[in-house]
Amino acid sequence: MQEFLPPRRLLLGPGPSLVHPRVLRAMATPLLGHLDPAFLTVMTDIQTLLREIFHTNNRFTIALSGTGSAGMEAAIVNVVEPGDAVVVGVNGVFGTRLATVVERCGGKAIRVEAPWGRIIETAAIEAALSRSGPVKAVALVHAETSTGARQPLDAVGALCRTHNALFIVDAVTSLAGIPVEVDAWGIDVCYSGTQKCLSCPPGLAPVTVSERALETITRRRTPCQSWYLDFSLIAAYWEEGSRAYHHTAPISMVYALREALRLVEEEGLPARFARHRLNSAALVAGLAALGFTLLPPAGRQLPMLTCVTVPSHIDDAVVRAQLLQAYGIEIGGGLGPLKGKVWRIGLMGESSTEANVLTLLNALEEIGI
Ligand code: PLP
Repeated sequence: MQEFLPPRRLLLGPGPSLVHPRVLRAMATPLLGHLDPAFLTVMTDIQTLLREIFHTNNRFTIALSGTGSAGMEAAIVNVVEPGDAVVVGVNGVFGTRLATVVERCGGKAIRVEAPWGRIIETAAIEAALSRSGPVKAVALVHAETSTGARQPLDAVGALCRTHNALFIVDAVTSLAGIPVEVDAWGIDVCYSGTQKCLSCPPGLAPVTVSERALETITRRRTPCQSWYLDFSLIAAYWEEGSRAYHHTAPISMVYALREALRLVEEEGLPARFARHRLNSAALVAGLAALGFTLLPPAGRQLPMLTCVTVPSHIDDAVVRAQLLQAYGIEIGGGLGPLKGKVWRIGLMGESSTEANVLTLLNALEEIGI
């Protein structure tokens, strides 16, 4: 076999996004042992930077080994014991997956559904909480990557407290692209992924957990069903002063995340959010001129993931293949019921530039959309 040299690609799909050369360089630096004091400082740096991006003071703020789905599994498996009820917002692939994970943990998923592309209304969550018996948690997806819908979260935390439920949020696509206000919104468990707006390769799941959630986890009647994802065991590795072996950290990924977080910090969150908004507005204007309409209604659209309905005269698979083969541009197709019907165009992290917007729009024009 020959060395694998990947073709050049402009990653404008739902993730992974483009990665800054500094992050790639960090991944190629020599390994340290995962308990080496020098490596432990890297972990501490990551915790400090993640707290800033999550807007939280949570002590338990870590980068879990595994992709965004590991973050999702960890959030659910630590909180949910067999028989527990969880209200889950289901309006796309990732809400559906959350409900499945709840059920695999032996919990009862109370699905609050909305059509794909729409948000889950706070009133519907409140109604579900009021008519159900005790509910252990409410779980919502902030940025539903399968539809481009932006879920409002700010009123849900207070509702959860009134009903003595924990608030779990999927911020896989939203973190570092739009504000994620963990403490201000009363989020108890928030998880993300590295390959979206953080512009790092996939492989780690940033997670933050409130003291309230940690107390609930400590009071579990049964041990966490997963040994690998058990927060009480993982805490011993990430806790400063403890740092006891649990599993071997993916060292190179941890280096990469530290560098990606440094890049976020250098840019500053307000500037980063503004860049995502600006480039998304340019893309939306260009797509509108080409005859596309957005799936989510106005005011509910994500800046990092634009989901447009593909007009019936366009062959979805043919055009996406042309974009990839002739222009080296990746965009995403629809999932589940939206397969063949929508495109999902990501402008996440490093991928969110004016030049990339123009490159894509020019390619679509040349193809003759
Ligand atoms: N949640 C959301 C909203 C996502 O977009 C994704 C991935 O696209 C996931 C969870 C799962 O993350 P991963 O594919 O990194 O396991």
